[in-house]
Amino acid sequence: MPVTDKSERQRPIYPSGKPYRLYGDYLRQRFGCRVYKVTLDAGFTCPNRDGTKGSGGCTFCDDTGSSSRAQNRRDSLTEQIHKNIERQRVRFKAEKFIAYFQSYTNTYSPVERLKRLYDEAIHAHPDVIGMSISTRPDCVDAEKLALIASYQTPDNYICVEYGMQTVHDRTLNLLNRCETHADFLNAFQLNQSFALDHCIHVILGFPGESWEDQMETAACLAALKVQGVKIHLLCAMENTPIAESYLRGEWQPLEQEAYVSLIVDFIERLSPETVIHRVAGNGHHQHVVAPLWLQRKLEIMNEIDAEFARRGTFQGYRFLQS
Ligand code: SF4
Repeated sequence: MPVTDKSERQRPIYPSGKPYRLYGDYLRQRFGCRVYKVTLDAGFTCPNRDGTKGSGGCTFCDDTGSSSRAQNRRDSLTEQIHKNIERQRVRFKAEKFIAYFQSYTNTYSPVERLKRLYDEAIHAHPDVIGMSISTRPDCVDAEKLALIASYQTPDNYICVEYGMQTVHDRTLNLLNRCETHADFLNAFQLNQSFALDHCIHVILGFPGESWEDQMETAACLAALKVQGVKIHLLCAMENTPIAESYLRGEWQPLEQEAYVSLIVDFIERLSPETVIHRVAGNGHHQHVVAPLWLQRKLEIMNEIDAEFARRGTFQGYRFLQS
């Protein structure tokens, strides 16, 4: 695999002026206006909670199924979409919206039920211009992806978000994830056969993962030239095994400075084309046990920019061109 000479590498010009390719820029370029996601809870569960694959869930997942809690699962999808759109119009001056199936595993149902839910979401409001569907890699198959792909039109943005988390099976075991990296690779290959937009979720700061281990995860994403990445730091939400571990003094989250350095190392290794959906700010602030600094999203984003500037690097600076 030839390696591009970094000394010849030009800093890409991203519209926001950031040293990495921001999701907001990508959406604005594609739709010509301010687009936001409206989070949904469609009443799914997860095979890692109902006993099919495991019970108790992943050690970092709370009883909302890793939701932002911006919705009420007792409301219909149409009600959730309308309420969230009104909030986001006021808060962010958003003009168009992506229905985001966020909570739990949003392909974990028979295809007939999935079709009813996706149909409702895509038609719920005239300003909905697409869907993002978050799932476990072991919960997609050709029939479900064919259904999801059927919503793709030139005007509709359809994206599947896969929780890969890490490339290391020993970490996935430790997390009680009840799936393997091979499951992710199979799902990714199938996803590519349907030419579906995708975003891969990863988590930094897992116990037992060295810097080199985490850079292996970045190298995998770079080799696959994934379209989008959402980067989280491992954080302890209340009533989760990881929070209990934190409260017993068995696990400590990364400090802010260490995270900033690590995520810059990570993004430097990704393809310059990959869209970065998130670099900071996971979990609803009222329910985070640790680290509390993670809620200072703007400050962290500014520090990430400053670290890139200090190094004179940018997204893709250490990308290995194949
Ligand atoms: S697979 Fe997702 S929803 Fe299920 S327990 Fe893990 S993080 Fe939670």
